[in-house]
Amino acid sequence: MNQILHMSNLYAPTLKEDPSDADIASARLLLRAGMLRKTASGVYTFLPLGWRVLHKIEDIVREEMDAAGAQEILMPALQPAKLWHESGRWDDYGPELMRLTDRHDNEFCLGPTHEELIVDLVRNELRSYKELPVNLYQIQTKYRDEIRPRFGLLRSREFIMKDAYSFNASQESVQETYDAMGEAYKKICDRCGLEWREVEADGGQIGGSVTAEFMALAESGEAELVYCSCGYAADAEAGACLARPTLYEVDAMEKIATPGVHTIAELAAFLDIPESSTVKALSGKDAEGNLVCLFIPGDHELNELKIEGVVPGFALLTDEEMKDFGLCKGSMGPVGLPESARVIACASLQAVPQWVVGANEDGFHYVGARLGQDFSVDEWADLSAVKPGDGCPECGLPLDGARGIEVAQIFQLGDKYSRAMGATFMDEEGNEVPFFMGCYGVGISRTLAAIVEQHNDEHGIMWPPSVAPAQVCVVPLTVGDDEVQPMAEKIARDLAEIGFEVVVDDRDERAGVKFNDADLIGWPVQIVVGKRGLKENKVEVKLRRTGEKKDVSLDTLAELM
Ligand code: ATP
Ligand code: MG
Ligand code: MG
Ligand code: MG
Repeated sequence: MNQILHMSNLYAPTLKEDPSDADIASARLLLRAGMLRKTASGVYTFLPLGWRVLHKIEDIVREEMDAAGAQEILMPALQPAKLWHESGRWDDYGPELMRLTDRHDNEFCLGPTHEELIVDLVRNELRSYKELPVNLYQIQTKYRDEIRPRFGLLRSREFIMKDAYSFNASQESVQETYDAMGEAYKKICDRCGLEWREVEADGGQIGGSVTAEFMALAESGEAELVYCSCGYAADAEAGACLARPTLYEVDAMEKIATPGVHTIAELAAFLDIPESSTVKALSGKDAEGNLVCLFIPGDHELNELKIEGVVPGFALLTDEEMKDFGLCKGSMGPVGLPESARVIACASLQAVPQWVVGANEDGFHYVGARLGQDFSVDEWADLSAVKPGDGCPECGLPLDGARGIEVAQIFQLGDKYSRAMGATFMDEEGNEVPFFMGCYGVGISRTLAAIVEQHNDEHGIMWPPSVAPAQVCVVPLTVGDDEVQPMAEKIARDLAEIGFEVVVDDRDERAGVKFNDADLIGWPVQIVVGKRGLKENKVEVKLRRTGEKKDVSLDTLAELM
């Protein structure tokens, strides 16, 4: 039988007034409903009811991860800087990384994500292709020194994430795990009662060119997304980050009259690269300081390739210059100067709008032309951002726009981390090869807030039953008597016995106070037990979501539920 909660001894201090610094509905309601308290900017304490909801979400995530073949572990939040130096991210990650030094002057960080730690965990122990794939996950506290912590649990500095990491023997195998994780995430979003969309995304700090985000639709969301009736959907930010420069390049190539190159497939054919290969893009500047992009096909890491082509004065952008050009780090970021990369295509996108396409194996020759048009940095940012109304890249119809909360993201990482950190396995031919990897994150505490963003009204929260702190609240209108309260307790026991989670509001409070709190906290079902009703053997059942009230005979109550 489920444990029965009693409001009289539950630590759930509700607030009558809105807290002054709550800047979004979820934060305001979670604070008012006595589920959450603010400790510092972007740092929160979960009270018993909030913690129960968090556990419900964790359980859903655990069930779906386990069902998809992932295994749970727990890594430390405290991570040695040494590993971050190995991956190069100690310098790349920037001020969002919470850094600290121990008494012996050793540097550490509080993990914002765990690629370094997990690669260190498996290298030297996971040895053979026969042991692969392996997918490990944890549910753990993450730290990010967000520049602007806000919106309560949506953008906090300490938050709870489920992060999974897969080690695979081939690209096909990563694809399989990635797809399985995507399917699991869809189930997680559905089971949490979210209205959501899967969108094309940008790799951001994690890296990786194949990646998707799961967006909970909400007007209050920070993310802008575009979508189309054909099923295409993307994070608009991904456009702004030049995640799909090839599309733009194809347009340009059309303009420079390269016959027959209109689509990515045609571009791939034109450049003589397999269509499935990733085209990595690297942003730099030419001798005149113009933004130049290099497109390098293949599954290679950029720093492993040779620049054979001649791009006079080409230099990588510094972080500051990236910002000046309105670019964000990620797949386009400075990845260390490639000493020797083969330039396949190159386009000068700014000021001197010259488009050039380099050849393949045989070196580099110009086939470009001037477009005769200058772009300012802003114009370029505008051009590259995907906006509602733009043509859908899949079908050409105008894109619709929406706002969303990024609750989860999945990435194919290739060998970015395993190569940098020397994590290899023996393949079928006996060669030592770096692992193919994927990583898959769900913001557990952000999901909690996203649920509240989607499920509330002017009276409070309306929890979907799957994540409610309890599904039923029994409200005796009088307490301490020998009729109403005992009957309320009996109803609670009966319902708990058939599997419901039940709370009894046994506080010696006015009915109005109890009703308001019940609506604020958001129990899906409220059962009001009063003297008058009991005379006719009846109780009142109220559904929080619709507000619908019904008198129900005690004999049929259990069946009705
Ligand atoms: P955002 O774009 O909102 O900054 P992110 O892309 O940096 O998020 P990821 O690195 O993809 O986040 O982390 C995986 C998940 O962790 C996110 O999808 C999100 O649900 C959650 N998350 C990230 N940052 C925060 C934060 N500051 N507070 C709460 N949850 C977060
Ligand atoms: Mg972020
Ligand atoms: Mg993001
Ligand atoms: Mg993300």
